[in-house]
Amino acid sequence: MNPLAYLGEQLDSFRQAGTYQRLRELQSACEPVCRVDGREVINLASNNYLGLANHPKLVEAAIQATRRYGVGSGAVRTISGTMTLHLELERRIAAFKQTEACVVFQSGFTANSGTVSAILTAEDHIISDELNHASIIDGCRLSRAKIHVFPHRDVAAAEEKLAALANEPGRKLLISDGVFSMDGDIAPLPELAALAERYGAIMMVDDAHASGVLGRNGRGTVDHFNLHGKVHIQVGTLSKAIGALGGYVCGSRDLIEFLYHRGRPFLFSTSHPPAVAATCLAAFDLLEQEPERIEALWENTRYFKKALNDAGFRTGESETPITPILVGEAAVAHEFSRQLFEEGLFATGIGFPTVPKGKARIRTIVTATHTREQLDRALDILTRVARRMRILTPVATA
Ligand SMILES: *Cc1c(COP(=O)(O)O)cnc(C)c1O
Repeated sequence: MNPLAYLGEQLDSFRQAGTYQRLRELQSACEPVCRVDGREVINLASNNYLGLANHPKLVEAAIQATRRYGVGSGAVRTISGTMTLHLELERRIAAFKQTEACVVFQSGFTANSGTVSAILTAEDHIISDELNHASIIDGCRLSRAKIHVFPHRDVAAAEEKLAALANEPGRKLLISDGVFSMDGDIAPLPELAALAERYGAIMMVDDAHASGVLGRNGRGTVDHFNLHGKVHIQVGTLSKAIGALGGYVCGSRDLIEFLYHRGRPFLFSTSHPPAVAATCLAAFDLLEQEPERIEALWENTRYFKKALNDAGFRTGESETPITPILVGEAAVAHEFSRQLFEEGLFATGIGFPTVPKGKARIRTIVTATHTREQLDRALDILTRVARRMRILTPVATA
């Protein structure tokens, strides 16, 4: 008797529903055109917004740091795993974000879950956008605070929740993604920050998809909206536009020192290899020295989004390089993705539970390094396959 037999049964049910996913194998570096499962494909499936994931300067920084300091840090940060490079990176990010201090976590995921769970207790309240990232949701659950979910980007609903809690004891945390990862729309941060101020709540934003993308030199949504000093906790990632791995929290010196003492992933999981910290430092140099990369990202974004809309695709409310193509059912999204791949385009199908039922989609992300020719080829494949699958109305043959 296999006590794990139920897992196999569940996998069978995924297969029947058409939502079973095999992992695709990337056989080259992450580039605009890459090799996946033995095929050359245009890659619209990465978060490598600025093309930094294999940028020669970052690769060189990683090699130099590895030669000099080795491949591992040897311990968690609080024991003996705080290297000079880690501190240098944190000072660099704090200055970049114009905050007092910064702490780097192993990932954006642990930055969110580790921070929310550390700063709140069961007596407290969290007011959270319904489409916030899984790492925020897990952090909320770990904190044991009471969770009040408001409809996506609905400021009035968020205010109602805060008003209803005004006389309740406990702290209140108002939390939102800066850019929503599956829809590409931007949080109404000025309004949310004003609410936080009015109701004495802590304001926290997760800028994973805004880091390196929005704001001056990619400083994120707080800078984009000029809300410096009005958002108490800014989370960012080093795993997307920055091209390597990691997450960070920026805010007051006290917040950061508290996380040194109570952020569980910080306390109980080993710090980054020196190569990762050195790579990220080199990436921040590039953000400051080559802002034209960000401009190229936005030019490609405008071009691609307009072409998709002109072709008749439904792309929702996206305002950023993340452009979903909505198709409805998860099985259709996965089949669309599979047929696109056969034709040479890599774009992931996303369905429940990552997005709500009936809102399945293909998610596309253009990068700064895609050429016009590659984008045109991608558009051609998308249109051809969508017509064949009747996601777009087939062209009448006269
Ligand atoms: C990707 C993502 C994260 C996690 O970042 P990692 O560094 O990949 O762990 C957190 N929040 C949002 C909104 C994300 O999209």
